[in-house]
Formats: sequence, C-alpha cells, structure tokens
Amino acid sequence: MMVLTKKMIEIRGILQTVGQSNALTLPSIVVIGSQSSGKSSVLESIVGHEFLPKGANMVTRRPIELTLVNTPDAQAEYGEFPALGLGKITDFSSIQRTLTELNLAVPDSECVSDDPIQLTISSPHVPDLSLIDLPGYIQVVGHDQPSELKQKIADLCDKYIQPPNVILAISAADVDLANSTALRSSRRVDPRGERTIGVITKMDLVDATRGASILKDPRYPLRLGYVGVVSRVPPQSTSLFKKGSGNISSLISRNESAFFNAHPLEFGPQSGVAVSTTTLRTKLMHVLEQTMAASLQSTSDAIHQELEEATYEFKVQYNDRPLSAESYLAESLDGFKHAFKEFTESFGRPHVHEMLKEELDQRVLDLLAQRYWNKPITTLSLAPPEPDSLADLPKADPESLYWHRKLDASTSALTKLGIGRLATTVVANAIQANVDRLISQSTFASHPFARQAITEAASGILNERFYSTSDQVENCIKPYKFEIDVEDGEWARGREHAARVLKNELQAVDEAVKNVEKAVGGKKKLRDVVGFVDKTRKGEIVVEGDGRSGAGGFSSDLLQKGKEALFLSDRATLLNLRLRALKSPQCATKMNKYHCPEIFLDVVSTKLVSTAVLFLNVELLSEFTYQFPRELDIRLGRGLGQDEIDRFAREDPKIRGHLDVIRRKELLELVLEKMEGVRDLERGRGKGKGKR
Ligand code: GDP
Repeated sequence: MMVLTKKMIEIRGILQTVGQSNALTLPSIVVIGSQSSGKSSVLESIVGHEFLPKGANMVTRRPIELTLVNTPDAQAEYGEFPALGLGKITDFSSIQRTLTELNLAVPDSECVSDDPIQLTISSPHVPDLSLIDLPGYIQVVGHDQPSELKQKIADLCDKYIQPPNVILAISAADVDLANSTALRSSRRVDPRGERTIGVITKMDLVDATRGASILKDPRYPLRLGYVGVVSRVPPQSTSLFKKGSGNISSLISRNESAFFNAHPLEFGPQSGVAVSTTTLRTKLMHVLEQTMAASLQSTSDAIHQELEEATYEFKVQYNDRPLSAESYLAESLDGFKHAFKEFTESFGRPHVHEMLKEELDQRVLDLLAQRYWNKPITTLSLAPPEPDSLADLPKADPESLYWHRKLDASTSALTKLGIGRLATTVVANAIQANVDRLISQSTFASHPFARQAITEAASGILNERFYSTSDQVENCIKPYKFEIDVEDGEWARGREHAARVLKNELQAVDEAVKNVEKAVGGKKKLRDVVGFVDKTRKGEIVVEGDGRSGAGGFSSDLLQKGKEALFLSDRATLLNLRLRALKSPQCATKMNKYHCPEIFLDVVSTKLVSTAVLFLNVELLSEFTYQFPRELDIRLGRGLGQDEIDRFAREDPKIRGHLDVIRRKELLELVLEKMEGVRDLERGRGKGKGKR
C-alpha cells in the first residue's frame, strides 16, 4: 500500500489552498515528450479514460497538475477542477471539453501559460499519483503558430523538470532515441539519470528484436530504467466504445498483452526488459512513494519555515490578536448597537421637543408674516408711535371682530397644518440621518453590503410606523382645533420664547442684508440703489416703462437687489417694532392676546409640540429603539450564511490580510501535524525493515 503518497497528496491539497510558495511544492512526476510521441495515450491508459485535449492543431498550452486519488471503496469515477468549482464531473468527454476550452483561452500572444490547470481524478481504478502533464515539445513550428512557441514550451518544461520532481521522459519506439527531445532535456537536468523514468511508446510499430534492444539501450542508462508500452486504444474497439462512457484500461491492456505475449523471447519474464502499462503504473507508484519519503525532511523544514514567517507576520502586524469573520462581524455589530444605544439616550423627549418646536417656530413666523406683518395693516401695536411710515397704519382694536377673526384664522391655520405628518416626518428624518451618521462612524463604513442592510433596516421600521404614528399624533392634537385655553404661566413662557424667536429672526435679517451688501459691492452702493427704489415706491420718482430695467442708471440686477434690501429693512423695522410691543406691559397679560398674536401662536405651537412628542415617543421612538437592534440581528447576525459573513469580513483589506494570515497559520499547523504523522509512519516502517 502506497500510504505515504496518499497522505502526501492530501497534504499537497491543503498546501495548495494556503497559496504555497515554490518551496512547499511536493515532488510530482513530470511528463515530457515530443508532440505525437504518445504522451497523452500513456496518461490516458493510466487513468483508464480519454480526457486530454486532442485534434490536429491542439497544442497543450498550460501545464495540467493531475492528481489521481485511489478510492478503493467507491464505484464512481469522476474528475474535479478545484479552482473552477464545477463539482464532480463523471463524464470524461466533458472533462476533455473543459480542458480544451482552458487551453484555447490562452491568448496567442502568450503562446503558453505557466499557470497550471488543477485536475483531480478519483477512481477505484487509478493509483494515488501526482502527475504534471506539460505541453509536448515541438520540432517544427506550424505556419499558423507563433514562432517563439517552440522556445516557450522548452522553457516551461525546464521549469518543471527540476528536482525533486521525477521525470517521465516519453519517446516513441519508431524514432531513434538519439533524437528524443524528452531524453535530451532530462539529461541536462539529471545527467546521471537518477530521477528519470524512460517510457518507450508504440512498441508495436517496430520489430520486436529492435524494440527489446531499445529498452536495453546502454547509451542512455537510467537508474529507474525504461518501460515499453503499447498504449493505444485498438482501432476496431473505438467504434464499439462510446466516448467518455467507460473505462478503457482493460481494452488497452488486452491489446498490449496480446502484443507482448506474442514475443515471449524478446519481452517475456526471462528477457530482462520491463514492458506494459501495468508495470509502468506500479513503477510510478513506487518511485513517487520513495521520492516523497526522501523529501519528507526538506518539505517539513520548508513548512516550518513558512509557518515561522506566518507567525512572525501575525505577531508584528496583528499583535497576535485572534480574529474570525464571525467574531469580526459580531464585534462590529455590538459596537454599532452600543453607539445606537448612546444615541437613543441623547435623543429623548426633550431633544425631539426642541427639534419640533424649532420647526413650528418657522411655521408661526410664516403665518405672522403672511397675516400680520403685511402692509398696509401691519401695525397692531400698542407700542408708542414710531417716527416711521409703519406707525401711521391702523392699530389693533380689541373690540373689533376683525382682529378676533384674524387670530382665530391664524390659530386654525396652525392647528390644521398637518402636525401629525409634519412631526412624524421631522422625527423619522432625524432618526434616519442619525443612523447614517452612526454607520459612517462605525466599522460598517467600509462595508457597502452592511451599510445598505442597516439603512434598509431603519427605513423599513420607520416606513412601517409612519402612517399609524402620524394618524395618532393628528388625532391627539384634535381638541386644539376647537378650543385653546392658555394659563398665565404658559403665557409668560410664550412671551419669552416669542421674543427669542423674533430676535433670532432679526439676526437672520441682518445677515441677509450683509449678504446683499456684499453682492452689490458695498454699503454705499446699496444705500444709493435702496434710496432710488424707495423714492420710486413712494412716487417721488416716476419711472418710465416697467421700472425694472436700467432705471436711474442701475442695472436690473442691482434694482432687484435694492428691492430685496428694502424689503429686509422694512422687515427689520417691523421686527423691532414687534419686539418692543412684546416687551411692553400690554403684552404681559393673556387678556391682550389680540395685540400679541406672536405670543398666543407660540403658546399654541408649544401645546401642539408637547402633545405630538408624547405620542411620537410611544409610537415611533420607543418602537424604533426596540425593533432596530433586533432587525440588525436578523439582517447582519443570525440571518447571514457563512459565505456572506466571509464576504462581509473580507471587504475590508486590513481584515482580509488579518484573516488570511490566521488561516495560513492554521493550515500550515495542520499540515505540519499531518507531516508528523507521515514521518512517524516512515520511522515505523524503517524499524520494521531493520527487524526483518
Ligand atoms: P501526444 O501528442 O504525445 O500526446 O501523442 P498521442 O498520445 O496523441 O499519440 C499520437 C498518435 O500516436 C495517435 O494517433 C495515437 O493513436 C498513436 N499512438 C499512441 N500510442 C501508440 C502505440 O502504442 N501504438 C501505436 N501504434 N500508436 C500509438
């Protein structure tokens, strides 16, 4: 039993997934030969199936790393391309097609590629072997082939026939051995013929005496010897035999035996020559087993070295910090949930209240501007008359139905604004914006997949809650649409707040004036154009036409800016006026609400906001705080498969490097452990031999 080879092949499989360096390559049998020397036929007779690319112009363009795995307890025969992930292929003509396609994919400009195709064939009928099929040497470059093809193939073969590999040099019997390119190449790298097996194909094509003499040829002595084969499928059987369907070993072997048996003198047991595919197989198994055994020490040294490097990298670059895709995801998720919790603690009722109040303050300002601060009935002031045109306007009369209606209409405009929808939108947008902020501050920032999952989790919950929340809020503020009671305390607080809002607005107006000033190019210029616009407004200057373009020597753009500035200065005068009114004793009491709509509307908006916040808190905030982390668990925790978790973690290059080095270390450790097992086996064997 070739236990060693089997175990080493298994180890090689693991090493391949490590992405091994050349030092870690375990010995293989490298098959070389000229085109048409019968190389493919020999490999196929060992495998028992036709599976290699054929055809008049078919030059193998990539090495095929062929791993044969003996599966004594199984019936099935199949091939696998580990790098392609096509699964088990039981139809060998399909394997042949895939190999052909892979060959054709190498561009002409490249001639041949040294990127090997990995193919594993498992069968109860194959021995455990690791073979590398190389492009056949060509003698004459065909007219439609690149001229450097010949050299490139030779270079590629040279790369593979280096130690510790065993060379299987194929030569045809009907060609003088002196002309065998395979033997010539192997001699260059193995001058004493210590690791070359000679295979002479097409023994049936030469006279038996001559055939036997080739196998004994003293000119090219090989320690591992020559084997003569007839590995062609007999022509009459090909038609009987559907391609790719069954094992051809016995057909070949029957044909081959018939030939060699017919010449017992030349090829029989007494002849001293080695013939037949079966002999070749056995020889290959033994030679590979011995070569593997011989390279155990150096291979295990190389793996140790590699492991040391990986361990060093792990220590220096990653501080020996353990990590797995799962733990990375779990940590990221915990971190994110923690940050979210902190956010919810700061985003409580007072915060939402403030946010909504600000929104409603704006609406109140709009209402005031629309309904009260418009000329010509702007002044409802009880303040002392101003030396200003505004002061000439009519004053609010508390007995007048007109002022009553005005305040009622404004209040109702406010209560019927659609507070439910407005408040819910404001809060939902704020939550979504904060979730986005939390993402960009978290490890998930560099993971597009997770970003999307989190954003969708948030918007999913918010959308689901939106209508019911906004309906609830709307329902609860309903009473205010009919009646509003104001208490003294509320009035006092409203008075303070309204004054603050007006002050802020005044500041904003000042800012805007400065901006206009900057835009027109200075205070003086603005004063000139404002003066002009003001005079036309008062009728002191009559402008021909529409008065828009080019009047008074100002450009239409400038005139526009002038109007803007004039509007702003009117607004500032008015705001100052109203601020004075709010501070006046008359506005200190709710009795005078018709004179102080700013305060009254502020009180109303505060009532609306307080009620809305109460329900938003229950319907939206608490629900979101509860559901969001659970939704995250589903989308980024339990809900993910291993593949998705791996893909997620590997999106981040630093994490990918970290995971890779850990995996490399683990695999190398596993390989070393297995190697130790193999070496124990060898030592045991050595002792056994010693006893005998
Ligand atoms: P490769 O180009 O070296 O892979 O050679 P092939 O295996 O494709 O063989 C070239 C040709 O030689 C094919 O037509 C085979 O049928 C034929 N051939 C291969 N081995 C033998 C053999 O042992 N005897 C005879 N008569 N023909 C063979």
